[in-house]
Amino acid sequence: EQNKRESLYIVTNFALDFFKDQLHETEDGQAIGLSYFKERQFETDIIKKFDLGYAPGKNIFTKTAEEKGYKDEYLLETGLIKQNDRGKYDGFRERVIFPIHDLSGRPVGFGARTLRSDPKVPKYINSPESDIYKKNRILYGIFQAKHSIIKNDLCFLVEGYTDVISLHQAGIENAVASSGTALTEGQIKLIKRYTQNVTILYDGDPAGIKASFRGIDLILQEGMNVKVVLLPEGDDPDSYAKNYGKEKTLDYVGQNQTDFITFKTNVLLKDVENDPLKKSQAIRDIVNSIAQVPDHISRAVFIQECSSKLDVPEKAIIAETNKIRRNQFNQQRRE
Ligand code: ATP
Ligand code: MN
Ligand code: MN
Ligand code: MN
Repeated sequence: EQNKRESLYIVTNFALDFFKDQLHETEDGQAIGLSYFKERQFETDIIKKFDLGYAPGKNIFTKTAEEKGYKDEYLLETGLIKQNDRGKYDGFRERVIFPIHDLSGRPVGFGARTLRSDPKVPKYINSPESDIYKKNRILYGIFQAKHSIIKNDLCFLVEGYTDVISLHQAGIENAVASSGTALTEGQIKLIKRYTQNVTILYDGDPAGIKASFRGIDLILQEGMNVKVVLLPEGDDPDSYAKNYGKEKTLDYVGQNQTDFITFKTNVLLKDVENDPLKKSQAIRDIVNSIAQVPDHISRAVFIQECSSKLDVPEKAIIAETNKIRRNQFNQQRRE
């Protein structure tokens, strides 16, 4: 079992070196991959720090790996090579590569972005789960971010690879992304090793808002502190950091971060201040989040805030919170 894992690491390490070599040392890699990164204003040192690469296609990876004697078993399990009735082929073709590192910096998987803007082609594809890549235990960028997370006692949670990289390049190094999956409990626990404080910084679009609702509850369940920043519509942390730089990005965060009650109130009651049905749905949604908080004193504080912000009696919120917690408790016992 341990041997198998070591064999998988050998293969992912080979792939990492291969993709980097392709990016920096081949004509196509430079003309296509490197110029793409340059166009996105990624600097050389950040390209190196994140081990970015290029996958050429034409099954060059498969040929090289087999020539060098790497075993199909491990190449297939890591998704670096795929197989159909016509034979084996490269898992990543004509894409730029974002290696995903574990906590000690070993590559365990890869994200790969297409360079085409064809809506039929998936923008990103990711390595499959394997014995060394458990998606709910890995965050993109955690290896590069962990010291800064500890130092700042804060972790920024963003959506994508390029968000992590651009923030890092701008000097905001404490950012990670839940790439390849929806955010999971295991990923929040990973952050919890380094800090209790998470600021969600998702894209300013409906998908980003929806995903941040999920993130809020997962973070609250761990007893951690969550703040949320809504970026201007159409922006993501990558574009914002590129356009405005470190100081203005941090200023924006400082001025626009809210706690989850204010965030949910703003989102759910936008333009519908006086709609009683919408209001009660919003209260229910917020109370549901409050009910996730394990510590009862913190819950009491949130209940009070919710009560005054939405002008509902505390008693009603307490009753509803208790009901939700009882139901969740009973459900967990049944499972
Ligand atoms: P870029 O700036 O390169 O366009 P992005 O990170 O802004 O990338 P989004 O569309 O905002 O891209 O998506 C956020 C994240 O969701 C991506 O970084 C990627 O991890 C994941 N993702 C996006 N599209 C897909 C897809 N088709 N399949 C799988 N994962 C995806
Ligand atoms: Mn988006
Ligand atoms: Mn985005
Ligand atoms: Mn983007």
